[in-house]
Amino acid sequence: NPVVGNLIGEGHVNYVLMFNMLTGIRVAVSRCQAKIRRPLTDEDYSAAHKYSFDFIGNELTPSTKYDFKFKDYAPWVFRELREDYFQLDPADYLLSLTAKYILSELGSPGKSGSFFYFSRDYRFIIKTIHHNEHKFLRRILRKYHEHIKSNPHTLLSRFYGLHRVKLPRGHKIHFVIMNNLFPPHKDVHETYDLKGSTVGREYPEEKAKQNPRAVLKDLNWINRSKSLELGPEKRALLTEQIRRDSELLKELHVMDYSLLIGIHNMVRGNRDNVRRNTLKVFSPDIPKLRRKQTVEAIAMRRVVRESDLQALDTAHVAPDAGERQHFIFYQDEGGLRATDEANDGLNTIYYLGIIDILTPYNTVKKLENLWKGFQADRHKISPVPPQEYGDRFFAFMQAIMRGGGGGARFKSE
Ligand code: ATP
Ligand code: CA
Ligand code: CA
Repeated sequence: NPVVGNLIGEGHVNYVLMFNMLTGIRVAVSRCQAKIRRPLTDEDYSAAHKYSFDFIGNELTPSTKYDFKFKDYAPWVFRELREDYFQLDPADYLLSLTAKYILSELGSPGKSGSFFYFSRDYRFIIKTIHHNEHKFLRRILRKYHEHIKSNPHTLLSRFYGLHRVKLPRGHKIHFVIMNNLFPPHKDVHETYDLKGSTVGREYPEEKAKQNPRAVLKDLNWINRSKSLELGPEKRALLTEQIRRDSELLKELHVMDYSLLIGIHNMVRGNRDNVRRNTLKVFSPDIPKLRRKQTVEAIAMRRVVRESDLQALDTAHVAPDAGERQHFIFYQDEGGLRATDEANDGLNTIYYLGIIDILTPYNTVKKLENLWKGFQADRHKISPVPPQEYGDRFFAFMQAIMRGGGGGARFKSE
């Protein structure tokens, strides 16, 4: 479950990896940030900047405890995305990711073997990705960039950076940094990962009762007769954005993505406090002012120094409004508040977005399609071709909005 993680401290199996990831990000991003902004060139999309870290250090990299190599992909492109479209303050971004070298780890929730890490203030997620996904993101980067430009309110994952760490034995780990759809300050009472496919898309209800934080799927949604409670205004906006986003994914031949929905019930509020009790990282134990001053100092220098991190040893307070206020679908307490037919607010907040968008319909999927196709209705299983996947995805999301008729017709007999 995305909500609970284990803090990674010294001695944790992934401590060195995490330490190296964060050191690499800090040095590489600071370095790009320290230069004067310039318009993007064609080369910027394929660029990969290399860094080598060791105990001795050099003019590019500080001395570090561990030896490793780091690659920063398309740094100028991601910088522009962060600053111009994702509304991130550069200094604040670096500080959130690197303040105190501890992240919490979610482990590997999916089948893919990816690992997920949260920044301490819970705003960012680092996801390790497969080599193919990394290649794919680089290939589509220009299209992705264009889409973000013309769709500032996109529901697609907001990718803030793409990097690689290479450990001394040659093991290479690629990872992306993206937005956490779920808010640090609100309990998420129900979570759904919806694809518009119903075959095998059920989390066992008996298990769900014991684990209120389970990630539920399409059939749970249908069987529980849920719907997205949105009035005409928000319904129209959301539908249009999902349509545009799924058009892009179709064009890119992507599949297997989901609409992730976290539901916060305002009446129930935060009294469960699960996350806070488990992680104990959300107590505002540093004055906001101190963080603000440090952020300002870094912004002037454009570089995060070791001393900043020490000064802010315990800093992990997210700024009040943050980047979310700029986006229609993340504006109400970081999410989208349910509304009635008169567009008046109801007591539910949705946290939603389209995730896992880096799987191209390659030969592996084609084979899987053939194989699964023997066993069930070929159109209802998840690995159908991208056109069909995208159309079905969009139709399902329309159906589950209030007045959309529900998702039941997507069920196989
Ligand atoms: P698989 O390919 O098996 O589906 P994966 O390793 O590619 O798995 P994702 O589908 O990206 O993983 O994500 C798995 C789960 O992690 C999601 O269902 C969701 O609960 C959580 N998660 C992923 N991305 C985010 C995000 N941006 N914000 C909040 N939670 C997320
Ligand atoms: Ca997935
Ligand atoms: Ca995946």
